Amino acid sequence: MKTTIKCNCGQRVLAKDVMQTGYYLRLIGPSFVYVKFRCSRCKKLGEQFVKQEDWEEGILHDIQSEIKPEEKPRFEKMGRIDIHECIDAHFELEKMDNLREILEAIEEARK
Ligand SMILES: [Zn+2]
Repeated sequence: MKTTIKCNCGQRVLAKDVMQTGYYLRLIGPSFVYVKFRCSRCKKLGEQFVKQEDWEEGILHDIQSEIKPEEKPRFEKMGRIDIHECIDAHFELEKMDNLREILEAIEEARK
């Protein structure tokens, strides 16, 4: 079973509810990840220690409901920006190649 963090009221704690996290390294016994949160349902503060070995990537993320419908267009927009960033980076690399050619040409001319 997947580990989840839950408030005393039963509400699952997700990344947006987390106020603070910490890491408790112990020399003997398991290390712990400390999570302080404010419950999205009852608004109470809570804290929980999760064994490091039980901590996993998806623990604070509910893939099904994490992204609200009204947030979807924003994320889709972000996706498009990423594509443009890739293209920009590609052009930057091409510029660098051109620059290297120019520098090499200068070096050749000096010989
Ligand atoms: Zn609660």
